Parts: sequence; C-alpha cells; structure tokens
Amino acid sequence: MPVQVQITEGNIEVTPSVGGLATGMMSVNQTFDSLWIGWSGVVADVNRKQVDIALKKEGCVDVQLTHEDVELYYEGFSNKTIWPLFHYFNQFVEFDEEKWQAYKRVNRKFADVIAENMEGVDKIWIHDYHLLLLPQMVKEKFPDVTIGFFLHIPFPSYELFRIIPWRTEIINGMLGADLLGFHTFDYERHFMSSVRRLLGYDININEISLPKRIVKVDNFPMGIDYDKFHETAIESQKHSIRDKSEVRKELERYSLLYPETRFILSIDRLDYTKGLINRLEAFELFLQKYPEYQEKVILVMLAVPSRIGVDQYQQMKSEVDEVVGRINGEFSTINRTPIWYFFRSLPFENLVDLYNYCEIALITPIRDGMNLVAKEYIASKTDGRGVLILSEMAGASKEMSEALIINPNDKAQIADTIKKAIDMPVEEQMERNAILQERLKRYNVGKWASDFLNSLDKVRLREQKSLAKRLTPASKNLIMKKYCQADYRVLFLDYDGTLTGFKNNPKHARPDQELYDILDNLSGNPKNKVVLISGRDKETFQEWFGNRSYTLIVEHGVWLKEAGGDWKMIEPIDDSWKDGIRSSLEFYVDRTPGSFIEEKSFSLVWHYRKSDPELGLNRAIELKDELTSLVANMNLEILEGNKVVEIKNRGINKGKAALKVLQEKPTDQIIAVGDDWTDEFLFSELPNEAITIKVGMSQTIAGYKVENFEEVRGFLKQLACEQ
Ligand code: UDP
Repeated sequence: MPVQVQITEGNIEVTPSVGGLATGMMSVNQTFDSLWIGWSGVVADVNRKQVDIALKKEGCVDVQLTHEDVELYYEGFSNKTIWPLFHYFNQFVEFDEEKWQAYKRVNRKFADVIAENMEGVDKIWIHDYHLLLLPQMVKEKFPDVTIGFFLHIPFPSYELFRIIPWRTEIINGMLGADLLGFHTFDYERHFMSSVRRLLGYDININEISLPKRIVKVDNFPMGIDYDKFHETAIESQKHSIRDKSEVRKELERYSLLYPETRFILSIDRLDYTKGLINRLEAFELFLQKYPEYQEKVILVMLAVPSRIGVDQYQQMKSEVDEVVGRINGEFSTINRTPIWYFFRSLPFENLVDLYNYCEIALITPIRDGMNLVAKEYIASKTDGRGVLILSEMAGASKEMSEALIINPNDKAQIADTIKKAIDMPVEEQMERNAILQERLKRYNVGKWASDFLNSLDKVRLREQKSLAKRLTPASKNLIMKKYCQADYRVLFLDYDGTLTGFKNNPKHARPDQELYDILDNLSGNPKNKVVLISGRDKETFQEWFGNRSYTLIVEHGVWLKEAGGDWKMIEPIDDSWKDGIRSSLEFYVDRTPGSFIEEKSFSLVWHYRKSDPELGLNRAIELKDELTSLVANMNLEILEGNKVVEIKNRGINKGKAALKVLQEKPTDQIIAVGDDWTDEFLFSELPNEAITIKVGMSQTIAGYKVENFEEVRGFLKQLACEQ
C-alpha cells in the first residue's frame, strides 16, 4: 500500500510507506482515477471500520489478513519460498504444503476483494511476487477485464524455477494476465523459457499463444521520481546550518574537522540478497590493501530493518553486527571509526542528504530485481560529482553502464574499485553522471508506468480486434444460410491441428471414428466436394483416406487424388536435390535428441516436437541459416511450420493447388479451414467471397477464428446436418 497504518492507543495513524514499489507507485496512483487494493499491515482483529474509513480517504481498500495468513502466506510462502528461490538462494527455500495452501487462500482473498470492487473497472494492474496466482483467478471470473502484471523481483532461470513443486500452477497463475512486465530482458527470457518447457505453448518473439488468448511479455525497467529526489537535494542545500538535518550537520561537522575524509554510502534493507557481508569484507580488504586510506575513508552503512519475523533475517542481523564490530575493532582509532552503522530507516529528506553528501555509493547486491537506491543516489547529485559502484547482479546495472560495475562475489575487485572511485577525476565523474542523470530523468517512474499502461491498452485493442473475428453463433447462422442456398460447395480442410490435435509422433495422429463420420456425412451430400489439403506425405493419406470419397491434396500441393482416382502430380517437379540436403539434416538429428527426418516425395522435413523446446528452437534457427546459403542457387524454399523445418520445391503451395481444384467447375460457396501459417497461402489465393477460418488465436488473414479442432468438428457437424 502507498500508506502504512499504525494503531497506537486506539488512534489510527496513516503515514507514507517506504520501499521501492510503494514509493514508485504512489505517484502513479495519484495520476489515475484508481483504487489501490492491498494489505494495510493491520491484522484482522482490530477495529476494522476505522481502518477502512482512513484507507478510503487515501483511495485504498484493505484485504484483511489474519495472524495465520501473515505467518504462513506473507512471512511463509512469499518470503520463505518465492523470495529466496527467485533470488537464487535455494539453500533458504522451504517447500511446505501448508504455506502453499495459505498462499492460494490469500490470493483468493485478493480476488474476492477485487470482485467486490469491480464496478466501472476495465483495467487491473497486479504487482509482485505475493500475488502470482491472482491474474488467473481474476481472469476466470472476469474474462473481459484487461489485466497487467508486473514482477518487481528477478524471475529465475528455468533450472532453478523447476525445483518448486507448484511451478505449473504458478506459471498458469501469471498467464492469467494479458501483459506481463519484468525489469529486464533476462527475467523475461527466463520466464519465457519456463513457459515453453512447462506448458509447451508456442512463443512468437514476446507473445505467448494460449488456446484462447495471446499473452504479451515485455520488459519495463522501473524508474524513480527523479525530480522529487533532485529538487529535494537542491532545496536541502539552501538550508541554513540551523535548519539542516542532524545527519547532514554531523557529516559537515566531521568534514570540517577532517577535510580529507571520503564518505562511502551503503543503503539497503537488511536482506541476505543485498550482499552486506561481502560488502563489509570487501571494505575490510580495501583497508588492508590500501592502508594509506585507513584514516581517510568512512563507510556510512544504513541497514533498514525488514521481515524481522523470518529466521534468516534475524540471523543476518547478528552476522552483520558481528562483522561491523570486528572491522571497527580492528581499524578504529581514538578519533575515527571506519564504519558508521545504522540499523533503522531514515525520513526521506535525510536519505536525500546522505545521497547528496557521500562521494561514493557502494551497492553490491548478490541478486536484486532492480535496485532503486542506485538510481536515487545518482538523482540526488547536484554538482555532477559522485561515483556509483554497482553490482552487475542488480537489474539497474543493465541501464547504468556508466557506473563502476562489479561482481559482488569478487571482493578483490570491489576493493580495487573503491580505490578507483576515490581516484576518479572530477571531470570523469561529471561526464558519467550527466549521462546517467539524463537517462533517469527521461525514463522516470511516471514514464515507466505510462509505458506499461499504454502497452496494456494496445494488447487490449489487439484482443478486441482478434475477438471480432471469432466465429460467433450469428456468423455461423449466416454461413449456414448461404450454404443451404448453394448448389455446389467446396470445403478445403487442413488436417493436423484443424481436424485433429497434435501428437509427438505425427504417425499417431490417426483419424478417429468421429472424424470419419463427420467427413463421410459431408462428402455423402452430392452438393459437396470435401478436399483434405495437407502437408502430409501421400502414403499416410493413402492409408487413412485412400478409399474414402474425399479429394486429397498432400505435400502442400504436390499430389492430388480425386475420390476413386489415382495420385497425380499437380505440376512436374524434380527431387534430385534431396540427397544433398538429407545429409545436412542428419547432422542436426545427431545433435538434437528427439528430432527426426520425415521424407516426402518432394520435400524433406526436420521435426523437433519431441526435443527439448529451447534446444529445438535454437537448432531450427541454426538449420534455417545453414540451409539458406545451401539452397541459394536451387529452386527450393524453406518453410518453418509448427515445430518443423521443411525444405521443398519453390512455388508449390496449398493456395495454388486449391485454385486447380476450383478450375474444374463454378463453385457457389468455398469454405477453407486451417491452423498453420502454410494455410495462409490457401486463404490468400482463394476468391474474396470464400469463407476462411483460422484455428487458434495467432494473426491471420482469414475472416474468422475458432479456438481449436473440437470447435471445427462442431461446426462441420452442423454443416453436415444441412442439405
Ligand atoms: N528507503 C526508504 N527509507 C530508508 C531507506 C530506503 O524509504 O531509510 C527506500 C529507498 O528510497 C528506495 C527503497 O527504500 O526507494 C528501496 O528500494 P530498492 O529497490 O533499492 O530495494 P528493495 O527494498 O525494494 O529490495
């Protein structure tokens, strides 16, 4: 929540929250006509009415959590399972069924509160790792509402994510959103990889095709309220010495006494992901390695108390206390202590004072989704001076390459970088900071939020366009009416994915009795010509449909067989190229477990449906690249289908073959159904008045869309009932 509620002696006090998400979203919440739903931090058994009234004034609604929820859901599953796992601290991860149940239960509580407040709502933006299941819960109840989700922490690599027993539920939960946002491209990539491996959905660049919808995934690095920090820093310098904050007075007093002192600033929540111990030890190493600085450098370390209910945080606090004590014990003199350590949070103005005054910021998290402190430090610089030392493991490092980037586990590198920062000429500092400030000012938190919300609007628009193509009962009736009036109709039907589902081995996708019945009923009507038009080989189709009364077109339009007739080649073609290309494909089969070659009369197909999805995709790209140069002077083309790469003679496609069939006699109605992009050739060659239907939600030039092959069968059954 943007505010914190505290109850002291029956009085309710509402104060602004600390923390990246809360501070960042506060400015967003003020710009829109919005309602903020969250947990106020108050447990359920206090005077609710007063709390609710106080929150309502701030545009907030409280989701009531019990003590048990706080323990099992917040401190439990959120902070003992997801937080450590997503930050690569798998040694701290707890897998506990009771906590998982609590996580589900509280996500459901959020869904219920949303449901109570849905009047007039068309957009919901869900935030962070505590609510990974919520997008799906809301989508199921309100399919028309647009849902955005932003993850403020890293998304781990699949190798780590896979260890969580509830991984599929979590991914499905997130996929309830229409747009998913991450801080960096790496997190986005990891998420996509988990989707591909766990659910097998098709992914086209940054779009995931679900059976009924498309989900867009993108990265939006979160910014800060740059002007607020920068202007506060300028204002604070104008204060007379009397009006300055205690912190500032102390720093200035010390500098007067010891003008050569350099201050290094370290600010974080006390969290094991922030790398405090490494940082302290690197500072110790710096003092040992460069003893000339022992009396000249002070580390001002602010550790903000956090999640005190979680064991590791208490343990961490004792460890930090101990290491600070050891270093101070080793290097202090009567007048000087090398580490000034504060275990508390500071008011905003004091924070800005610290940012503004300290010459160096040392920010070395082991893993951090973004790290706003790094950005706030740079924004609070008013004279262009200051050096930021930043961990490459923080999301912020991707946008702040002008900082001194370090590996937080390399203490020697950190020690040397501190020395480098101290020695950095002022001109260089100013040059680096000017670029950083310019970028932070432009891509501030307002821009971050509006970019996300604009993307969400675009997703929504596209969804609406896509929905407009849905084959509705009304459009079915219209088609049916024309169908009944027509004396001669041709139905072009693709096979795999259109009349039946995909199988790992294409040989297993045999037609079942229901399909034979539907096709027999349709082709039994003398007014109909049923054409099965497929990329399959002719042997398979001969076996499955050879004695049926349908026209068959196979290999994307190489062979044609009329009912009761023989196979004929539509145009004469040459297949002498196959031997050369086959040996290249074999090389890929050897290196890609699960993949195999299918040989058709005039094409070769490399299948990778059974392979590891990511390896398969990479190899497909590699193979396409290799083949492109190989076939440059041959009359061949390379087609990429659903988990296949096919090489065939150029100029042969389903569209051309369909036109051949249509030349025979005038047709009153044409209906074409297909799922693959090879069917787009069919749709594009057919006359405008043809009824074209795409199976699946991806982009198409077809006039209508249906969800899956079951829906196609339902529609064909309906047609078969008419005369
Ligand atoms: N912060 C604060 N008071 C303090 C110290 C820090 O409000 O005493 C704020 C700081 O300004 C920053 C946030 O806490 O906006 C920390 O965000 P960051 O992304 O650096 O880390 P997180 O805590 O989200 O992991």
